[in-house]
Amino acid sequence: MTNNIVIAIDGYSSCGKSTLAKALARKLHFIYVDSGAMYRAVTLYFLRNNIDLHDPSQVAGALKNIHLNFHSRDYQTHITLNDEEVSDEIRQMPVSDNVSAVAALREVRHEMVKQQQRMGRSKNIVMDGRDIGTTVFPDATLKIFMTADPKVRAERRYKELHEKNPDITLEEVFENIAHRDYQDTTREESPLRRAPDAIILDNTNLNPDEQLQFALNCLNRD
Ligand code: C5P
Repeated sequence: MTNNIVIAIDGYSSCGKSTLAKALARKLHFIYVDSGAMYRAVTLYFLRNNIDLHDPSQVAGALKNIHLNFHSRDYQTHITLNDEEVSDEIRQMPVSDNVSAVAALREVRHEMVKQQQRMGRSKNIVMDGRDIGTTVFPDATLKIFMTADPKVRAERRYKELHEKNPDITLEEVFENIAHRDYQDTTREESPLRRAPDAIILDNTNLNPDEQLQFALNCLNRD
């Protein structure tokens, strides 16, 4: 029996989940796992190899050929897809536009959840995503469900993406976030939901330090 600590942070797209998760992991000396990066890397493989999402045998075959690895440097996510560093490419719009359709596939979710559960079996971790508190770690020590005003979320993400891609527009980012929220909350397989025991954190008007303090207070209350 293990008694390691798991902190699950779920919520809508571009709510600042990873900022809070990284800050918590750094403060507590835990491992940080960005589960969204895994779905993004799978999506990149599917796009590059023209995998037909409606063909279960193609999907199953592709999953067998995908090997993901995290290399955490200073709590930044570095992910490799079959030994190739893809951390930047998975944040680009082609992946963002397709990831929720790929993440809705049962076979994809089963494989990712299995890998995520393995990571949390023996180490103290902070994992962010959409189904961490409901499906991956229903017994997590602390569950936080993040939300924020959609306009504020789009503006934050736009600022981040615009630095690397000056052609991107705020409308495009807003549309992508709204579309992913819709797909993530309405899919059949472990849709994005607040676990009944998750604490809601609306960070529309909170800065990163205030969010970290909120989460630490929740942990100490438990
Ligand atoms: O967290 P991020 O926005 O990078 O996640 C990208 C996409 O991956 C989400 O929009 C969602 O479709 C999917 N995802 C998921 N379950 C998770 C993490 C991410 O379905 N645990």
